[in-house]
This record gives sequence, structure tokens and C-alpha cells, in this order.
Amino acid sequence: MAYTYKHVIIIGIDGAGNFYRNTDTPAIHKMFEEGAGSDFCLTSIPTDSSECWGSMLIGVQPKVHELTNGTIGSTEYKHRAEHPTIFRVIRDAHPGAKLGSFSNWSPINTSIADSGIGIVKRSANDESLLIQICDFIKTEKPEFLFIQFDSIDGAGHTYGYNTERYLQELNVADGFVASIRKAVAAAGIEDDTLVIATADHGGNGHGHGGPSDEEKYVFFAAVGKTVPRGKKIDVRVIDMPAIVAHALGVPADPNWDSTVPEGLFE
Ligand SMILES: [Zn+2]
Repeated sequence: MAYTYKHVIIIGIDGAGNFYRNTDTPAIHKMFEEGAGSDFCLTSIPTDSSECWGSMLIGVQPKVHELTNGTIGSTEYKHRAEHPTIFRVIRDAHPGAKLGSFSNWSPINTSIADSGIGIVKRSANDESLLIQICDFIKTEKPEFLFIQFDSIDGAGHTYGYNTERYLQELNVADGFVASIRKAVAAAGIEDDTLVIATADHGGNGHGHGGPSDEEKYVFFAAVGKTVPRGKKIDVRVIDMPAIVAHALGVPADPNWDSTVPEGLFE
């Protein structure tokens, strides 16, 4: 019988790719030391936010979930019955679970995260969102919390990915990771929480969407009681729902194209 976590938190840093390696990011480096991860976690293609967050939260390829940046603002995710989100799968197994989706980029909350199943949803700028996230962790101790920060991707589009200004934003996001991990400790739930930090895609020049290595590979780091320290694993963004379900001891959806990476859990 696999160990069951009481809490899983995904810290999603939009547009972060694997550029953390090029700047001072002590909190992310600490997660790699304390847990397992990869600098070459493959995301979905096209490497755009709707496509990639969709794969991360629904566990299927973009051609299946059909979420695109062009339509997400006006279209609700329409394949919920055949391809449920990770939120729905947890809710079906655990009717009383506290679920949260705290996303700077509001389409995740309006079009992907389910309505009417009691997900606490917040959208705000990164700094304001961080305060709400830490408060939510400490007061509610959620079973599953999904987080999306957006400033880094904004800096990539404005100043170019992997530029000095972009990397400065990544320093700031690294501080968010540190604050969230402190909040988990302050909540007294560190021992039975799985924390994952990752990204939806990287970037190349001033954009993303293509299949270049800078766009399609992202970092992935996971820390938890049963996660081996310092281990390198093969993992894809689309594997996230299977990882979360496994960690929480809820059954995976049979239609997910999502698997638990070998070696992630002892
Ligand atoms: Zn994105």
C-alpha cells in the first residue's frame, strides 16, 4: 500500500521553462536537493498556456482537451464528462476535500477549474495572490491547491526569455516558492504535504508556442516524505494528474494519458 499524502500543492510558474538554472534561485534549488525532479520535463505542444495548463490539469494532449489561447477566454472546457480535471477526480473521491485554484491568469479559473464543486478560486496579481495563498494554506490546509504565477511569462514576452530582466522576475518567483514552503511549515502540514514546482512552458526570443528545447522543456521539482532526495526522474507535464491522484490515494481517471514517473515515490 502506497503512502497517502494529505495535501498536494502545485506551484506553477508560467513561462519559467528550465531557466532557473541561469540565475539565483535558492528555493527551487533546495527543492531539487530535498526531492526528485527534472530539468527536462516535456510539456505539450503547441507550447502555449491553455494547451499546457490544460494538459497539466486534465491529463490529456491539447488535441483532446481542445483548449487554445485563442478561445479560452470565451469557451468553457467542453470534455469534462470523458476527460475530467484533477479537481473533479479528487472531488468525486473526497466530497469534503478543500480544493483551491489560485491563478493570476484568470482563464484557468473561469474555463478549466470546474464550477459548482466547491473549488476556492482566486485571481490576482502575483504579489497579492501570494498573500492569499499563504493565508489559505495556513487557515484551510487544502487537500489540493493549484497555483499559477504569471509575471515571469509577462517579463519573457516584454523583455525576452532568459534575458536579465526576465531572470530578475524568476528571482522574485523563487521567493514566492520559499514563502509558500514557509506557509506549509507554519500550517504544521509539511510532513504530509507533497509540494511540486513546475512550469507550463518556456520561451524563445519574445514568445512561445513552438517546439524548440527552450519552449518545450520545463523544470519539475517535487518534495515529500516518500520522494527520494536528489533523484533525477523522467516526467512530463501531462503526468501531473496521475502524480496528484496517486499521492492523495484517489483513483486515476482511465482516460488520462498521464502516468506516475518511475522513481518519483519510494
Ligand atoms: Zn503560459
